[in-house]
Amino acid sequence: MADFIIAHMYPDLMNLYSDRGNLICLEKRLNWYGYSCEIKLVSPGDNSDYKNIDMLFMGSGSEREQGLVYQELIKKADQLKAAIDDGLPALFIAGAYQLLGNSYIDSDGTNLGGLSFFDFYTRSSKERLTGNILINTVLNEQELSVVGFENHGGRTYFEDSKVKPFGTVISGYGNNGEDKTEGIFYNNLIGTYLHGPLLPKNPSVADFFINAMALRKGIEITTKLNDDIENYAHEQIKDKILPS
Ligand code: GLN
Repeated sequence: MADFIIAHMYPDLMNLYSDRGNLICLEKRLNWYGYSCEIKLVSPGDNSDYKNIDMLFMGSGSEREQGLVYQELIKKADQLKAAIDDGLPALFIAGAYQLLGNSYIDSDGTNLGGLSFFDFYTRSSKERLTGNILINTVLNEQELSVVGFENHGGRTYFEDSKVKPFGTVISGYGNNGEDKTEGIFYNNLIGTYLHGPLLPKNPSVADFFINAMALRKGIEITTKLNDDIENYAHEQIKDKILPS
């Protein structure tokens, strides 16, 4: 068995904008730290036993795919929420993030439902929120900037002030283009609208997940990787968004 197992949830349905690149990044970094990693593909109907899983990943999908995944997950919602409450690291992108709220109102006004893990809802609009985005966040007590790309019709609004965003929008739209919140942060779960290669461009976020996975296994990673190239890419994008 590999040292770390990451479950890739519903890759045939939730696969927009190269979100899968995040898994390649996690696998590579784990290898560079000296550990093996298996990406376990999870399909609808598969048994969802989270006991041997070290992290969950779900990319985004269109409203149709979101509906199919919702029908699948609602059957096993209790197990999934218990795993997240227990601190299982998880990265949920855009459409996957939207599923975690109370409801998703599509562009025709139909409520597609939600897993109700957290008190927020999403309302879709025909006008999409698209472009590069820069946010600030705090991970493991360290303040850092996160760069990415967003492309979503959904606007997400928190219904409880206790829900914690992943970050504060410096430039871009984030959850709804109004209140400067971006994504959700709970235990070791991050839900975010930042698509595509989020982790390769933000190695500190990748390491947040790697350290969380390792800690749960009693492993302390002390090796430091040379992230000069990754940090250069990060700074280039930041400069593009906020020219100095
Ligand atoms: N339904 C979603 C939206 O557009 C998810 C698709 C996406 O990830 N952009 O808001």
